[in-house]
This record gives sequence, structure tokens and C-alpha cells, in this order.
Amino acid sequence: MIWPVCWALALAAAAATPRSVAAGAYDGCRTIIIGAGMGGAYTAWRLAVDDGGATVPAASICVFERAARPGGRIHTVTDLPAAFGGAALDVGGYRFHRAEHPTLRGLVEGPLGLTTHCYSDPLGDALRGLATNGSVHVTRRVQACPPITQPVLIARGSRFVPRAGVPFSTSATIDEQVKAKWTPELPYTIPPDARWGLGGNSPAAPRSPFGLLFGPTSVLPEIASRWIRLVTAPDYAAAMGVADEMLAALRGATFRGVPLHELSVYQLAIAVGVTPEELALTQDTSAGANVAAQVVVSSIVAESIRNVALGMAPLDGPRDFVVPVAPDASGAGVNRTGLGTVVEGLLDAATAAGVRVFYNHRAVLARPWGSTSTLVAFEDGALVRASRLFLNMGKPDVLALGTMSVPTHGASPAFRRAFAALRVFGLSKAYCAWPDAWWLTALNATAGIGGSGGPTVSLRYHDGSVRCADAAARVGCSGSLLVSYNIGDVTGAASGLYIASHDGAGLSATSDTDAPRVLDGAALSSRDRLLWDAIHGELRRLHDPLLAAVGVAGGVPDAAACVTAGWVDLGVHVATPNGAGVGLPDDALEAFVAPTEGGAAARGAPVHLVGEAYSQEHAWTEGALRSAERALYHGAGLGLGRPPWLDATFHDSVIVRFNRGRA
Ligand SMILES: Cc1cc2nc3c(=O)[nH]c(=O)nc-3n(C[C@H](O)[C@H](O)[C@H](O)COP(=O)(O)OP(=O)(O)OC[C@H]3O[C@@H](n4cnc5c(N)ncnc54)[C@H](O)[C@@H]3O)c2cc1C
Repeated sequence: MIWPVCWALALAAAAATPRSVAAGAYDGCRTIIIGAGMGGAYTAWRLAVDDGGATVPAASICVFERAARPGGRIHTVTDLPAAFGGAALDVGGYRFHRAEHPTLRGLVEGPLGLTTHCYSDPLGDALRGLATNGSVHVTRRVQACPPITQPVLIARGSRFVPRAGVPFSTSATIDEQVKAKWTPELPYTIPPDARWGLGGNSPAAPRSPFGLLFGPTSVLPEIASRWIRLVTAPDYAAAMGVADEMLAALRGATFRGVPLHELSVYQLAIAVGVTPEELALTQDTSAGANVAAQVVVSSIVAESIRNVALGMAPLDGPRDFVVPVAPDASGAGVNRTGLGTVVEGLLDAATAAGVRVFYNHRAVLARPWGSTSTLVAFEDGALVRASRLFLNMGKPDVLALGTMSVPTHGASPAFRRAFAALRVFGLSKAYCAWPDAWWLTALNATAGIGGSGGPTVSLRYHDGSVRCADAAARVGCSGSLLVSYNIGDVTGAASGLYIASHDGAGLSATSDTDAPRVLDGAALSSRDRLLWDAIHGELRRLHDPLLAAVGVAGGVPDAAACVTAGWVDLGVHVATPNGAGVGLPDDALEAFVAPTEGGAAARGAPVHLVGEAYSQEHAWTEGALRSAERALYHGAGLGLGRPPWLDATFHDSVIVRFNRGRA
């Protein structure tokens, strides 16, 4: 191919631009990793440290990150106003599941040697809260973290607590209690006969879209017929075997003639007569369920079935969510150190082994250069020639590279289809700090969720950092509370608020903004005030009646400060139906490993996509590691074997076989 003259001139001009790094700093950079998020940091570490540079010399690995910090959507902040008490807070990704995220667990507890502690979420995620079908839950969650005795849900002014003595992970979830109080008298113009379905569905047992997929009465016979065997498998190996068998049966399966990768959970739910009220209920009671139900059926069933089997892994300690911690200086208890410590640990070790990491380097173009190289151009004018390229970038970042760049340029049809089907949804988070931790001292709310569908929803009493003069008596407590965790934001209300709180544009693929912003209660700009008032308004709406009931006058006080983070444009991904190539197989995971293989203009260096977007574990850090591990194993000329700290059964089924199952 002859390159356009203007492109060659642009590159020549760029190469002549002075840079801030020392001359020769990029010499020898051959394996180029764009992005120092978890996927990029892990790739560098696996090659340079875990594999000891045996496949790719460490000195030839260069990581380029557009921001001034590593971590991407994992961002642990520590330099906060004094009211936060020096705590480390994660304003992006924060926890992982010890059983269901074996790559991250293996890494954290193995070579990185970090300590973790339970982060128990009384409501679990959308699936755990809602997906019952018959008598068997989607996951068999083994309760090994200390039980939370008094989880609380505050919604629409009502306070829900579980029945005495019932652990929260059984069917008596608070979501279930909310459902029990649900009324079909919605202000919709749905004729009474059509409410709750024309098929005689009982209003007392509204269905969830996810519940249709799992359990012994799943609408997918490949799942229904094997479900009991899966959840009653005698041990982990047997459960993984049943999952393999189930996934093999699902490969090529259809629902009413539609392949499962061309069908969303909502489409399926609507097809079987799930009513608007039932869909609304799913959205109302579980954060994130609204977007999650837009996901393609093939992806969610593959992830969930595997998670059931992984839940039976032979593990010591909790099979639950955990966060990295370190002992408190006082010797009493532990403090969260943040998920950022994992990324930093990887990059520190990789750098020590000879990997070079360049911050403030935004890649703007990546073009094949001859048959085995790809030239990467950076915003500051730097040019680097890669003989292998790992792109640790989400969909918006890849799109920002443009259609002249790999992987879009020269992409295979399979990649185009899978990539086009990815959809990003926004998230936002806010922690506020008070000298008096009123939710503990006045309301005794140690764990649980509060939210009423307002713009800043889903506060979590069990998330934040609090110190008490007397912890047992809950007196003299001060610290922070996660006051808002918004996933999906269908109305756009929260997104608007969080973006508006930035002085310039919010974080996006093309802005230089970072996600967090500190709101100082004593010095609020007019712009800050919008978000501050929204947060406090919601807190007061939910809690003032409860505080009044226990004799606390004046309601929720103003916080001393808040830290907010708007991951609105670069949130997390879901895979939506990819039916553009009707009749083609769903080979998305394979396409992400080698997006240009089989493409019309396949030339240049091998390219691999590593990151959360390119896995079935969407929205989880584990997904970034699995996609990297697949690229390292399957990538042409790589072939890195299973690391000793990673479970062999998992590696064979999920990495080697792309979680496609086996008969
Ligand atoms: C609010 C929130 C809460 C979450 N909670 C959890 C959780 O509790 N547990 C969990 O497991 N996961 C959670 N996640 C998801 C988790 O954070 C992500 O899955 C994970 O961090 C993704 O890592 P990644 O490497 O795929 O991508 P990223 O972290 O996005 O890394 C990509 C990197 O590439 C850089 N980059 C992009 N474009 C360019 C370019 N052109 N040039 C150079 N560099 C570039 C970016 O700056 C970034 O550093 C959460 C996410 C959010 C937003």
C-alpha cells in the first residue's frame, strides 16, 4: 500500500517536534502497550516479571499512558481534605470477588502478596439480588465473610431490614422485601388486564429478566436440563465440568430461532411476556440492572454459569467480595489501601525488571508500517515503531484513534461486529466526610444501601472510612460515607450533575480531565453547588424523617467535604446483540485477541486488545486480566503458558478454550 503523502508529511513533522523526554528514551521500544490501566499494567508485568522476559525482553517493553498517573478506571485517592482522615478511597473500581475472579485473586494473593479483607455488600449485585427462578439461586454463595447482622435499605422513605436471624444472602434479600411491598397500581396507562402480563403471571411473584435465564425452569432448555446438576455438583472440578458441558450445548443454541449472541436479555424477557411493571421493578430495586439487561444473552449466561462453578472453588477464607488492606498504624484493625495498589505493584515490579513507562503520552494514531511493524504517533509528536502492539483502551479510546488507525483499520469482520456491539454506560461515585458520622452514631446503619431513585442514588453505609472513639458503642465516630454510586443512569440526571461539577469538560476519550473532583464545603463554586445540593438534598430526603424519629433535630448536616468522580463517558462496557453478521458465529473473544487477523488489510505488527471491554466479565477488573491472559496465550508468536499461581482448571476452560465449553 502507498501511503498518502499528507500522512507521511504529518509523521515527518511530528517526528521533528521537540519532546519533553530525553533523546533516545524510546530506543529499543518494540512491544508497545498503550494504556497503563489494569490490562496494560498486567500485560507488562506478565511479560517482564512473571515470564521473566523469556518471550519478550523486558527492555523492549514500553508502556504509554495518556494520563499523569497509572490505573485508568482504578483510581485510589489519598490526598483529600482533613475531614477524610487520611483514608485511601477508591473513586473507580474498588473490590473483587475471591471465588469468581480467580485471576485477580491469584495475582493479588500470590505474586503481589497483598492482604485483603471482606467487603460484604448486603444486596450483592443485580443477579444475586433478583435472579431467582424456582427454588435455586443463580449463584450458590458461600457465606464466609462475617455476617452483616443489620443490613438496611432505605428507599422512598421506607426503611427495610431483613427478618431476624436470616442472613442476607438467602432468598430473603431486601430486594425481595421491596418487591413484597410493590403495588401494581402504577400511574401507567396500561389496562388492568394487561398489567403483570396476559399469561396469568402473579403480581405477588414478579419475574426478573435474569430469572428467566437461570434455574431449573430456565427458558433455555440447555440450561434448565442441567441446572440442578450444576448447582449440586459434588465438587469444584465436577461443577466446572458441568459448566463446560452447558456452555458447549449453548454454543449455536437459539431462542425461537434467534442465536443467543443476537438477542438481549430484555428482548428475550419481552418475548416471553414480562411486563413493563416487572421491568420497572427490576430497574427500581437493583442498581445497574437496567443496563445489565441490555446485555447479549450469550455473554451473560457464559459469565454467570461459569461463576456458579467458580463459586465452588476449593478456597480458604471468604468466597465473597474483598478489598486490599494494610494494618492500621495503631495496630487496631486494617485500613483499605485501594485497588490502585494492585496496578502500582504490577508497574513497580515491571519497571524494576526494565520496562519503561511513559506518562502524559496520548497515542493519536497507529498505522501499519511495512508488513511487520506498526508506527504509533503520540500527541506530543513522539513516534515509536512497534513490532507488537497491545491496546489497553476501552471502546471510546479506540474510536478516538480513528478509522485510519488499527484496530479499526484492517479489522476482520468478526472484530468489527463484536466491537460495534460494545456499549459504554456511565458510572459516578461520591464520598462525603463529616466530623460526626451521623449514619452510625444516630441511625446505627452499619451496612446496607439507601436510595430512592433520585439523581444521586445508591448510597452504601458499609463503604467509606470511619474512626470511632468507641467503636463498639458507636460514639465519637467521624469519617466518610459513599453517598452516591450510580450505575447506568438511564435518565442522565446524575451524569449531568457530575459533568457539570467539572470546570471544563468531564473525563472523556478526548479531554484532559480526570474523573475525581473535590468539593470543599467551605469554598464551593457555583458549579460545585449544583452537585453538592443534589447530594445533600437526596441524603436529607431519605434520612431526615429517620433522624427526627430518633430525636435528632436539624436532619443531615452539611458535609465538610466531598470527593466525586464522574466516569460518564468512559464507564464500563456491556456487549449488546451483534446480529449484523446474521448466521456468523459469535467469536468476539477470539476477535479481540487478533482483531486484524483475517482483515482485508492485515499487515503491520500483531495487535491485541486487552481490557475490561474485551471479555465476558464486563464491568469487572477480572475481565481486563482475562483478556490479557488470552492475548498472551493465543497471540501469534507469544504462547505464554499458565502462570503457576493461576488455577489450572480455570485456565484450561476460560483462557485456553475461550470459555466456550466442551462436550
Ligand atoms: C466507578 C467504577 C466502579 C467500579 N467498580 C469495580 C469493582 O469494584 N471491581 C471491579 O473489578 N471492577 C470495577 N470497575 C471496573 C474496573 O474499574 C475496570 O474494569 C478496570 O479498571 C478496567 O481496566 P482496563 O485496563 O480495562 O481499562 P482502563 O482502566 O480504562 O485503562 C485504560 C488506560 O488506557 C489509557 N489510555 C486510553 N487511551 C489512551 C491513549 N490514546 N493513549 C495513551 N493512553 C490511553 C487510559 O488513560 C487508561 O489509563 C469499576 C469501574 C468504575 C468506573
